[in-house]
Order: sequence, then structure tokens, then C-alpha cells
Amino acid sequence: MAAAETDREVPSALCSEFLNFSAKDTAAKWLQAIDLPKEVYQHLARYVPKIYCLGPNLNPQSEDLLAQLLLQAPLEWYLCGEEPSLGLAKLEQSNQPSQLCGHVFKVGEPTYSCRECAADPTCVLCMQCFLGSVHKEHRYRMTTSGGGGFCDCGDTEAWKKGPYCQKHEPNISDSSQEDPLANLSADMIARTYNIFSIILKYAVDMLTWDKEDELPQGLEPPERGDTYYCMLFNDEVHTYEQVIYTLQKAVNCTQKEAVSFATTVDRDGRKSVRYGDFQFCEQAKSVIVRNTSRQTKPLRVQVMHSSVVAHQCFALKALNWLGQIIRYSDALRRILCQVGLQKGPEGENSSLVDTLMLCDSKMWKGARNIYHQLFMSSLLMDLKYKKQFAIQFAKNYERLQSDYVKDDHDREFSITDLSVQIFTVPSLARMLITEENLMTTIIRTFLDHLRHRDLQGRFQFERYTAQQAFKFRRVQSLIGDLKYVLISCPTEWTDKLREKFLEGLDAFLELLKCMQGMDPVVRQVGQHIEMEPEWEAAFTLQMKLTHIISMMQEWCASDERVLIEAYKKCLTALTHCHSGFTDGEQPITLSMCGHSVDTIRYCVSQEKVSIHLPVSRLLAGLHVLLSKTEVAYRFPEQLPLSELSPPMLIEHPLRCLVLCAQVHAGMWRRNGFSLVNQIYYYHNVKCRVEMFDKDLMMLQAGASMMDPNHFLMIVLSRFELFHIFSSADCRKRYNRENANKDVVQQNSTLIEEMLHLIIMVVGERFAPGIGQVENCDELKREIVHQLCIRPMAHSELVKALPENENKETGMERVIDSVALFKKPGVTGRGLYELRPECAKQFNLYFHHYSRADQSKAEEAQRKLKRQNGEDSALPPPVLPPFCQLFASLVNILQCDVLLGMLGAVLQWAVEPSGGHWSESMLQRVLHLIGMALLEEQQQLESNSEDNEVTFNFTLKISRPGEAPSNTPSILALLETLQNAPHLEVHKDMIRWILKMVVSIKTMRERTAAAPSPEGAGHCQEQTVRDKDKAERKRKAEMARLRREKIMAQMSEMQRHFINENKELFQQSLEELDASTSASQEHSPSSWDSALVCVGPRRWRAGGSERRQVVTCILCQEEQEIRPDGRAMVLAAFVQRSTVMSKNRRRPPHNPESYDPLFMHPDLSFGTHTGSCGHIMHSHCWQRYFEAVQAKEQRRQQRLRVHTSYDVENGEFLCPLCECLSNTVIPLLPLTKTSCSSEQPGLSLWLNTTSQQIKALHSAQRKAKPTNAAATSEILTVEEYPPPEGFRLDHMPLNPYSSSIKEMLTTFGTATYKVGLKVHPNEQDPRVPIMCWGSCAYTIQSIERLLVDEEKPLFGSLPCRQDDCLRSLARFGSACWSVSSLSTVQSHFVRLLSALVPDPQVENSPCIVDVDMFHLLVSLVLSYPALHCQDSSGLSVDAAQLHLLHLVTVAHVVQILLSSVPVELTMEQESGEVEREEEESVGLLYNTLKTHLGSLREVSSGWHLWRCVKTGILPFLRGAALFFHHLNGVPAPPELQALGAGEWEALCAYLCLPSNLLQLYYNHKEVLEPLLQWWCSHPVVHQCLQTPKTLISYPRESNRLIELPEDYSALINQASSFTCPKSGGDKSRAPTLCLVCGTMLCSQSYCCQTELEGEDVGACTAHTFACGAGVGIFLRVRESQVLFLAGKTKGCFYAPPYLDDYGETDQGLRRGNPLHLCRERYRKIQKLWRQHSITEEIGHAQEANQTLVGIDWQHL
Ligand SMILES: [Zn+2]
Ligand SMILES: [Zn+2]
Ligand SMILES: [Zn+2]
Ligand SMILES: [Zn+2]
Ligand SMILES: [Zn+2]
Ligand SMILES: [Zn+2]
Ligand SMILES: [Zn+2]
Repeated sequence: MAAAETDREVPSALCSEFLNFSAKDTAAKWLQAIDLPKEVYQHLARYVPKIYCLGPNLNPQSEDLLAQLLLQAPLEWYLCGEEPSLGLAKLEQSNQPSQLCGHVFKVGEPTYSCRECAADPTCVLCMQCFLGSVHKEHRYRMTTSGGGGFCDCGDTEAWKKGPYCQKHEPNISDSSQEDPLANLSADMIARTYNIFSIILKYAVDMLTWDKEDELPQGLEPPERGDTYYCMLFNDEVHTYEQVIYTLQKAVNCTQKEAVSFATTVDRDGRKSVRYGDFQFCEQAKSVIVRNTSRQTKPLRVQVMHSSVVAHQCFALKALNWLGQIIRYSDALRRILCQVGLQKGPEGENSSLVDTLMLCDSKMWKGARNIYHQLFMSSLLMDLKYKKQFAIQFAKNYERLQSDYVKDDHDREFSITDLSVQIFTVPSLARMLITEENLMTTIIRTFLDHLRHRDLQGRFQFERYTAQQAFKFRRVQSLIGDLKYVLISCPTEWTDKLREKFLEGLDAFLELLKCMQGMDPVVRQVGQHIEMEPEWEAAFTLQMKLTHIISMMQEWCASDERVLIEAYKKCLTALTHCHSGFTDGEQPITLSMCGHSVDTIRYCVSQEKVSIHLPVSRLLAGLHVLLSKTEVAYRFPEQLPLSELSPPMLIEHPLRCLVLCAQVHAGMWRRNGFSLVNQIYYYHNVKCRVEMFDKDLMMLQAGASMMDPNHFLMIVLSRFELFHIFSSADCRKRYNRENANKDVVQQNSTLIEEMLHLIIMVVGERFAPGIGQVENCDELKREIVHQLCIRPMAHSELVKALPENENKETGMERVIDSVALFKKPGVTGRGLYELRPECAKQFNLYFHHYSRADQSKAEEAQRKLKRQNGEDSALPPPVLPPFCQLFASLVNILQCDVLLGMLGAVLQWAVEPSGGHWSESMLQRVLHLIGMALLEEQQQLESNSEDNEVTFNFTLKISRPGEAPSNTPSILALLETLQNAPHLEVHKDMIRWILKMVVSIKTMRERTAAAPSPEGAGHCQEQTVRDKDKAERKRKAEMARLRREKIMAQMSEMQRHFINENKELFQQSLEELDASTSASQEHSPSSWDSALVCVGPRRWRAGGSERRQVVTCILCQEEQEIRPDGRAMVLAAFVQRSTVMSKNRRRPPHNPESYDPLFMHPDLSFGTHTGSCGHIMHSHCWQRYFEAVQAKEQRRQQRLRVHTSYDVENGEFLCPLCECLSNTVIPLLPLTKTSCSSEQPGLSLWLNTTSQQIKALHSAQRKAKPTNAAATSEILTVEEYPPPEGFRLDHMPLNPYSSSIKEMLTTFGTATYKVGLKVHPNEQDPRVPIMCWGSCAYTIQSIERLLVDEEKPLFGSLPCRQDDCLRSLARFGSACWSVSSLSTVQSHFVRLLSALVPDPQVENSPCIVDVDMFHLLVSLVLSYPALHCQDSSGLSVDAAQLHLLHLVTVAHVVQILLSSVPVELTMEQESGEVEREEEESVGLLYNTLKTHLGSLREVSSGWHLWRCVKTGILPFLRGAALFFHHLNGVPAPPELQALGAGEWEALCAYLCLPSNLLQLYYNHKEVLEPLLQWWCSHPVVHQCLQTPKTLISYPRESNRLIELPEDYSALINQASSFTCPKSGGDKSRAPTLCLVCGTMLCSQSYCCQTELEGEDVGACTAHTFACGAGVGIFLRVRESQVLFLAGKTKGCFYAPPYLDDYGETDQGLRRGNPLHLCRERYRKIQKLWRQHSITEEIGHAQEANQTLVGIDWQHL
């Protein structure tokens, strides 16, 4: 290809140019130039195409270097007039740095906002400024930046206080007023001006250039090549996959290249995908277009001449250069601003800045980003030009928004996104409102984009096309802009501001009018609706506008003149909406209880009704505000209240409320979910402030201006209940004539709803302006009622409270006065509980309760009262008085129509058989009566002497009813009800009412009659109270008897149950009690005086003690464990582990060739076995597992979902506890051992054993003669006869039953398969090795865990772990019986050769390279294979002891070689006892030193002995656990508790001298040669040269990494983390490995790798190296812990970071400061250390099925 050729030629071609070029000279030439622009352009025309874009593979480094030398340097020379580095330094020195920080945020960088001082939530600080500011002591919010935007430190308008951090604190001599240009010479200013104009113009020209094949005038290159680029542009329509696929086809590249192209296109907005002649590029273009045009519009592709691309590349560089240069000096920045904003030749809006803005949507992403950044660092940093820029921005606003709406890029890539930087500055916003009429512009622009209207001019979202919906989504950002403009309410008003605000309000009312009555609904009768109507768009709009509406009201409230004008305008708008309102609706007259009113005939259930009434609601809000200002009383003539009659005002809100009631009553069922959803949002906390709440207020406003009787009659009529209550004999006749059950049910619900509405109209007085309350009272009441439901976490409360436009609920200000905080434990979260004294504020009919809330709260409050020994009545709370404008509302409580209704309901309740009343109805009636009585009592109390209290409810309810004549009074009805048997629940309430009546009557008498003696009322009250008490006592007694009876029944049932499920019960009890782990097997009765667990003298269990009986959890049968019996198995989970790894760098072994015989002491990979401890018959388990398999196969065919366990890999859930398992371990009895007392000593035993081994060798050689022939020395059996009693031909009988043998194979194969990650192969010689390894590794990990948890070695493990270890150890000693004897024998031979030289074994490892505990366990467990052919009377016990001693000595030597640190000077005095040890260890060390000259000099025996003792302790503890379980020897009491004496007890238990060195000296004759041999191994010498490679003992337990205290430190760390694969890109999901601390680029294409033939994400890939498949991560952006296991399993886990309210913030949505909770982190660490991560994932996935569907492997 030609391209490749030119590539190579570039440097040489440019070389000569470069050598001859002088930036200084060029600049000098320019200084002389007459036509400077022409000169500069010529220079650019000549060099730019030579530097940029010379081949398909761009080389940014060399390009940048050349551009710097050939292009930028002359510019800088010209600018400075001298050597640029000098000139710029001078500029910088004389510069007065700006007080603005202006740090531009990277994606994912933490930002901080002060919730107390920020002007609005968009005001943020960078981490540096925040840490140096006063706000870090305040309540702050932390978020991660989405990129773009800058730090507001230093902006006085952004902060109510503390605008500067320490760094940006201005000097006292305030220089900000000074003109920064004053410091610059005129010459310099002129030069700067010249060069900036040329370069900025050049950049603007090039970036807005739309011709593909030619260049602007003056830039045509001297020699024009004919190379082109095929340029692919980004869009937001096509997916990554589509682009990658298309590219592979079109330009014939690899998948990897295509991914890289796609990533760049997505990041920079465009990327050349082919380079060559025109034809070649055109061809690629047509393939791309063809391939992507099928469903959507095709990807944008251009074939561009390479010189055009080159100039565009440099244009971007030039903008960057400008951005860098102006950093040196505020003066340069100001000049750039001036150049940019200077009007062009075309007049208005033709400056370079305008040109860029207006072309914004045509540019590609990368270009936009760069010039936006330049704007931010120049125009927005200069206070003078910021204002000018703001004006230009506002002037172009409409056009920019329209471009944005048509564009498809996200808002963050649009110039319109800068609105937040401008509009949130209060002074600018106000200036733009008054000068540029910004408010009106924004609203008009918005309205212009929503043209789809119905006949009445209302919005119609129903039939939106996809494109319209898309546009609607984008146009919503305008509402965001309006919010910014309004966010700070003016403190001072000018006339101009009033005028423009009201003009804006007019526009806003136009918008609201388009919403008033939109999306109307009609009740569907007969058939269900066919299609759910669209409703979300309308509610989206409502939700977005909610804060705007509230802020409009706030603005109005801040100026009385504006308020009154706004009220008038709103009223006019509403009148306009109502015009033609009564058309076709006939007037009717309603009469009832001697009152009559005119209204219209209208039925919600038959005609159109809409839930959207923003104009009415705005009016309601303004009305309440007026009430607060009291202007309404002083100058009522200013308010045209009469224009709309009160019945008109309430009409639509009332219809809306009735609609809700009817929906509750089930009358609108056929209208589907759309309506249900609308009703839900109407009441929801996000909308209710400007919907439901305002409707209620409007009803209150209307009713306060009406006769209460009239009001109620209209309400009755709209509820379609008027006929029920208006009939003369309604008390008798209700519902008798109505047989239709549905209708009866509906009416009952409607009556309940209506009564509730009346309660709310009279009772909701907590909005300032309605009642005499403060703002905080409303909030307190809201919180009290939430906490009456149950104690709540901070975030729950926040969710239940409405947020203002600043996302604040204001809760923190008041919470402490109503609630107490309770801190969380290791799980759960902190909770707020209601202060007990606040419970009396509880109102059962609180208007924001849903029905569910209400019943929960009722239950909770009744329970509370019972607990406090009070009666269970929940009377209404005492209410604050109304404001004057609403004062007349209380009369509703005593008006005739209401009394009529109350009487009727009570009458129905008295005769329960008479009608279909409901208890809720009665409860509401009682509540209303209670409210009336409280009102009367309050009026009496606050009444001054002379006035008569007009509110006389008690009198009215004492009068008999009027029609039909002689009906009982309400009071009489209540008295009757008190004794009604069917109303037990309400009795306390009725009693409360009657008591109130009595007390009020006394009060009245007292005030009427002259001062009556205090006592009378009191006395009466007293007797009532006494009676009460007696009654309560009687009830309590009855309740007690009832309880006792129930308890007796219960315990009988329980006994029965336990008898039936005895075993189960037993087992679960055992599990509960971990301390019972010293199981029955070791009965203390047979304790020897000394408990020794190994060797000929070891403790032996008697016959009966050995008997072990267990129960199968599946068939519940008991079974004794016997070698010849049916196999019993434990459910078990085998997994690979790196938990104890001391070397995470070690690459994973090749599973096929790896030889696991010797474990390296770094323990880098191990196999862990765990068990839930549940025991089954092997055949029961097999049946169960087959059933699971079959079920799984069926299920997978049906639905393609996964389970939490992988059946194909042998996984299943324990049938009892659902614990994840993947195999079973057989339970085995203790092997019978007898022991003749005469046993050989170590040297004799070693001798015999090596003879045996030699015999084996020769036997083997004989068996394989071909091999033998190759060796020179031919050994025969005759030469090495087996020692006495060793019979090579003896084939031992397998002691186990076939079912046990089968299980031995099963578990062995499973361990082999999982541990090595290979296919199962029971013949593989490595099977037994893996089993011994797993036993050793599991014991080691449990030993570490006990140390870490500070628990004693024995007695503290849960049963299941004891069972598991016991089974593992005994299995290990039996597994040889199912393997080939010679294989196991050769394993033993090789193992022993590590310690005892054996010339027949090659490559035996050096002792520093062997983990001694693994060696011990493997030796002991493989020995039976040798022993089984021996009949000379040697005992296994002796062998175990000798092996232990041998390995112990080796370990001591190993420790001395590897773990002796540099001596500390301090030597502590040690007791006599240890002198001997110190001396002998010193001797041994010296011996070693004679063998190994390079060993360091250590003189202190004390020091050495310390090292040995601490180094070997884990080994001894592990050995004790091992032999304890293997031989079934009870643990000595000293080891069942923590404390001193552990060493001695361990040594005694293990039959070791407490001076371990004696082992060596007692057998020096055998061990000395061994020692010498060990030291002669070449590896030892190597290791001593580089001591760092040695593992030192004791190996410390691994921990999870240290985490910072403050979460933002992590966010900061993650924000500077870049993807390691795609050079310098920010990672989208930075994820921290908590095991090793590596940061990963998760969940992203760029970092996917292939693992075992599958694509996996960075996390999954990492787990395979770091955690052998198991991983623990922290997703930093989400503040979430991620557990992964294998490729398919994972779950999220609560992070160890909590906010001050004791809550986690998963997803970082709330932004409260988060701090590390060490207990929780320790809990995660413990899960990891005890290998429970996979189990945890299993449980989480079982509990939450959606977790199973997540594509974990791509994380
Ligand atoms: Zn800052
Ligand atoms: Zn600062
Ligand atoms: Zn603050
Ligand atoms: Zn069974
Ligand atoms: Zn279980
Ligand atoms: Zn990446
Ligand atoms: Zn890691």
C-alpha cells in the first residue's frame, strides 16, 4: 500500500524543513508584515498538511512535537516578542491570579456542595477547595461529576457564606476591580490582539467548515496531494455492536480494531476508518451507509480530503493552545474574550463566539468539547465578559435550543448545557430577565416546541409519534433552564423586574392553560378499555413543573404588589378556562335540612373529568399566600374575589377529588391501569404539593367563602350521594331498597371518602396561611405521622417528604424535636423513633396517609397505647387555630347538613341489621364529632369573660332529630352505641366523646353560672375515671385468662410437633449451640491422665465410644457408621482458594501438567472443603441429586434461565439448609488400632522404612524391565530383599462396603476435578494428593481463622466444621484404598524423599520450598498404603509419631533458615526454664552456619528461640487439629480456652518435648546427616542470596486491603484511574479488588479479555488470577460491594461505608458523606477468610431471582 510507504518517508521529508526552520525568524518576519493574517495563513497552509494526517495510522506524539516546533513556537515568539519561556514566565509573575478556582471536573471526580451555604445544588467545589473550606464542617453533599462543569470556589454569588477556600482567599488589597490590562504594555496588547484574532478566526473557520474537498481562502496547500479519509461520525442511534459489526464488514478490519474505532468514535465524535485515494474511501463509505440504513437513518460518513482533516486537527490544537496561553495571565484572557465577542462584519450576533455557538449542533463531539472548555476557561472566568457572553447566549437562546432539540447528542455535549453556568448566577439571571426578557423567552420557546394540541388548545400527548416523544424529552431541558433562572428568589424588586416577571408569568399562565383539563377521562362502563391511554407524558410535564410552580409562588410571596397582580392574572386565566363552562349543564336546586342551594347537574361518573388543573391550583396557592399577608382584610377592594363565584372555584378540584373517591370505590375498574397510576401520582410525594394539596386548599378557600350547608350539599351532590342523605327518612331507609350489592358497596366507600374529605377540609390547618403555624410545623407534623407508622431510616423519611427545588426536605432542622435516633448494629441501618410525647399529635385521618399507611399507623398506635396501659381510643389531636381568611371553616362542624349526616350514620349503626353501614364510616363520624368537641373546648378555654362562644356543638347534638319526628338526638344515639355489643373496637372512642361532652357542659355551666366550685366538674371527672379504671382492670383480667388458655394449647401442639420431628429438632439445636462441638465421641470418663493424640502412647477410644449413630436428613432413619455399613455422607462444597496466598503474582498452574505433591510455602493456590454439616444416606443423596438433575433439565428446556447452582458441574443445594454444595464426603469410623508396646525408635524405623522403599523400587523396576535396561546399575529384588514381614505380594482386603467405596471415589474425584480445574478422572494418580492437600489446606485455614477471631483451638468451632474436618481427615487416611496401591506408595516414597535422601527419586524439592504442614498430612495419610503390606508388628501410630518428629525438625530448620529477622538490641530476661532451649537452638543455628556460610550471624539464643516458637506455632496447632480428628482423641482442657500454657499443652498433646530442639539432639546420629543433606540443596544457597524470596514464619493472615476512612478519597482515587487498555481514557466503572488493591476497568468493552474461550470483563478475568475464581470488589462509583464466583455467579453486597444516619448509599444517590464502618468491613473480611463468599452468593441468588439473570461474567 502506498500509505505505508509515505508513512516511512515522513520524518526524512520533514527533517530538512525542520532543520532550516527558525521560529524566532518567522515571528520577526510577521512583526514586519503588512498583511499579518495573510502571512500567518500562508505559514499554516504550508506546514499544517505536512505535519498532520499523513497516513492511516496517526502518530499523535510526533505530530504534537512537530506542531509545537513549527506552528506554536512562532506564535509564541510573536506574542511575547522574546524567548517564549521567558516572556510567559514574566506574564505569569505580574499576573494577579483570579479568585475563581474554575477547576474543570473530570468524569467521576468527586464534587462537594454545602447544603447549608450553597446558593443552589449546582454550586459545587472541587475536592481541594472543599478540604480548605469552612463547609467541610457543615452538612454537605458529595456527588461524582458527570464531566464538564467547574469548581465554584471564589464565586461570591454561589455561596451564602464561605465563598473562598484557603487557597482562593483574595488579598486584602482587592485587585479585582482593577483592569488586568493595565499591567500590560500597549505593544504587547496589540500583538496579543492580532495573533488571537487570527488564530481564533482560523479555528472557527476550520471547525465550522463543511466542504469536504476544499479549504478556505488562503489555506490552499502549495502542493496538493490526493489522499482522502473516510471519516465516520458518532450518533446516538446506533449501538456499539452495530458499529463494530459494520466496520468489520466495510473496512475489513479485525474485531479488535473495530472495537477501537468504535470507542474513539464514541469518545471523540469522529474517526477516520480508511485512508487512501478517493475511490477507496468512497467504497468504504457506501458499504457503511448501506449496512446501517435498514431500520434507522444511516451512520454519517464523509470522504474528506486529507488537508481538510489536517487543518481541522490543528484547529483543535490551536484552541487548546489558546486555552493554555491565557492561563498565564488574566490580561491575555480578557483580550481573548474581547476578540471572541467582537462583532463581525455581519453585525448582530456575528462574533466568533456567536458563530461557534450557532454551529454547535453541526460539529462533532470532540470539537464541541474543546471549544466548550475554552469558553469555560475564558468567557466564564472573566467577570466582565461573562456578562456580555450571557447576553449573547440569551439572544441566541431560541435558536440554540431549537438546534439542540433537532440534534441527537446528549445535552452534556451541547452548548445549551452552559445555561447552568450562567442562569444560576442570581445577578446574571435577574439581568437577563429584565434586559433580555429571558423568562418569557424560555417559556415561549418551550411552548413553540409543543404544538400538538386539541380543539380547546390543550396539549395532547396521547397520539405522539416516536419522534414527537423524542422531541418532548429533549425540550424538557428548557424547564431545567427556567428552574435555574428562578432558583434564587429576589430580595429586592425593581419596577422593571416586576414588569418582566409578570410578563413571564403571563407566558407561564399560557403554558398552564394548555395543561388545564388535558388528558380528560370518561368512565368506561360495560367493556374494559381496549388500549391503555398514554398518561406519562402529562405527568412528566407536571412533575417537571412542580418546582417551577412552587418557585413562582415564592417569588410572588416576596413582593405584595407582584402577589396581587399575579393573583389577578391567575384569576383571569381561570375565568378564561371556565368560559363556556356551564354550557349544556343544566342548573338545579338542592334542598336539605331546611337549606337550599343552586348548582349545576354534573356527574363525575358520566362526564369528562381531568386530573390536570394547574391554573386552579396556582390560584389556590396564591390565595393562601394572600391570607398570610393580610392584604386581603385591609384592602379587599384590591382583590377581584367576586369574579368567580366560590362554587365555580371549587368545582374542578372537587371533581378531581370525587374521581379519586370513585376510583377507590371501584367504579372505574374498566378504565385500566393508566387511571390508577394517575391517581397514584396525584397523591404521591413528588406531585402532591402542586396537585392534591392544592385541590384541598381550593376547597378550603371556596368553603370559607360559602355557607357551610351549601358547601356540603354541593359536595354530597358531586359525590352522587345527595339522594341518600336528603330523603326525609334517610335514617331508616338507607340502602334497604337497594339490593344491588356492588352499588351498596360503592356507596359505602363513597360515604367514607366524603366524610374523610370533610375531616380534611376542616382539619388540615398546617399550611402557613391556612392555619396559624410556621413552616417548620408543617414539616414536623409530616415527620410525626411517618414515624407513627413505624420507626424509619433517614433515607426512608427523606423519600416520604417532599423535596424543594434544592433537593432539600429541611428535615434536619426539625427532626431532633420530634424523633430520637437509634444507631445500627453490624447489619441493618440507623432508625429514627418518634419521641413519646409526640404521639398525641397523631391524626388517624392525616391527609397524606394512603389507606395502607393509615391502617398500619392505626395498628401501631393502638398497640403503643395498650403497652402504655392506656385505653385504645385514638381521638383527633388538638389543632392550631385557622387564619382569619379561613376561620369560618369550623362552622362546617356544627352546620345542619353535617349534623343530619352524622345522625343518619349513627342511626344505621344502632340498628346493624337495618342497613349496609360500615365501621370505617362510623369511625369517621366519631372522629368528626371529636373534632367538633375539641373545637368547642378550645373556644371556651380561649374565650375572654364577656364574649359568648357561638360554637355550640354540645347543645346541637343534645337536641332530638327533626325528621321524622322524635328521632333520638346524636348524644342519645352515642349513649346507645356505647352498650352495643357489636362495636367493641369503638367503645373507648365513644367513651372519650361522652367524657368530653360532660367536661364541656361543666365548663359552660361554670362560665354561665357564677363561679361554681372547682370540684364539681373535677369530681365528676374523677368518678368517670374510677369507673374507667375498674372496667380496664376487669378487661385485663379476662385477657390474661384467655392468654393462658391459648398458651396451654400452644405448648401442647409444640410438644406434639417436636415428637414428630425429633431428629430435625435435635440437629438444629446442635447447630445453634456451637459450644457442644466436643462431641459425644470423647466422653470424659475415659480420659487418661495425659491426653496424647499421636504415637503409640496415644489415648484410645473404647468400643462403645467409637460407636457413632447419625440420622439421615432425607429419610429420617438412624444409621450407625461402620466400615461395612451403608455409607453416610455430608453435603460438602469444594472450592479453589487463594485466601492464604502469600504470592498473588504466581501464575495459575497448567492443570494438565501440574504436580501438586508438594505445596509451596507461599500457599498460592489451595483447595478448601467446607460443609453445612448435614448428613444423608449416600443412596438418599443420590436419589435426591438425580431428581434435581432431571428437574433442571426439564426447566432449562422450558425457560432459558439459570439457577443459582450449576447442576452440570455437580452442584446442588443442601436439601435441608439450601447451602450450595458440589459433592459429599463419606463419614468413616475410627480405624481400629491395637498397639504392641514395643515399637522401634526413629532411626530403626527410618531404617526399616527405607528398606521397604528400596524393596518397592526394585519391585517396580522388575515390573518395568524396559526402563531398567536403560540404567547402568541393575538392581534386582534379590539384591534388596524386603525386610521381615513386608510382603509385596500381599493385597490387603478393602475393609469398606461397596457404597462407602463408591463415595470415597466420588469425593476424591470431586476434589481432584475442582482443585485442578480438570475433567473428572478417578484413575488419575493425583486424586489422592488433591484430597490430602485439601485436608491440610482446610485445617490450615481454620487454624488461621481461630487465631484471627481470638478463639481457642478446640471447642469453639461450630459442629459442622468439626464434622467436616473429622470426615476430611479420616477420608484422607482411607482414600488410598480406592486408588492403585503402587501409586500411593510411590507418592509416599517421593514425599519422604524431601526429608530423607533417596537416590532413586529425582528432583526432590529443597526444604525451604515445601509447606511442612502439607508434607506432614500427606505423609501420614499416604503411609497406610505402605503399612498395609507389613505384618511385622510395626504400628501406624509409631509411624505417625516419627513422621511428626521428622517434619517438625525440618520445620525448625526451615524457620531458622528463613525467618530470623535482624537482631533487635533489646534482649529480654528469660526464666531458667527457657535457658536450655535458648542454648540448644543457638547450637543448632551454629551447626547450620557451618553448613551454610552465608547465614547471618545471630548471637542471641533468646532471639532464635522466640523465632522458632512463634514460627512453628501454627504448624503445631494445625497438627493438633489434624491428629485430634484423625485419631479421635479428646482435646485437653488447656486447649479449649485462651491463655498461657498453650505451648506446653500443645507439645504434650502432640507427644513432643516442650524443648523442640531435643528432638534433634536425641536423634542426632540420624538427623545430623539429614541436616547436612538439607543444607546442601542448591536452592538453599540461592534463596539465602535473595532472602526476600523466602516465606517467613509465622505466615501472617491475609487481610482485605486498607480502605480510607472517608469515601470521597476513594472516589478521587478512582477518578484519576484510567483504563489500562485504551490509552488514557477514563474508566466508566472503576472497580477496586479488595483482596489485592488492584483498580480495574469493569463492565466495559475495552477491558474484556478471553478466558477459556469466552469473553469476560476485567473483574471476572482478575478473579481467576487473584482469587482462583472468587472475587471481592468495591464498585467505586456505585458504592457497592461485588462478590463474584466463577463466570456465572455473583451478587451485590452492602458496602462497609455508612453515612451519619447509619445507612449505606448503594448507587451514591443521596450523596451524604460516607465513612468506613470497621465492623462491617471486618464482617466482609471474615466471610472471605472462612471461604463463605460463594455460599453468600448462593443465598443471595436464591433469595433474589433477578440476580441470576445478571451477566456477571462481563463485569
Ligand atoms: Zn476548586
Ligand atoms: Zn478554592
Ligand atoms: Zn457551608
Ligand atoms: Zn436416608
Ligand atoms: Zn445443609
Ligand atoms: Zn477499560
Ligand atoms: Zn485482586
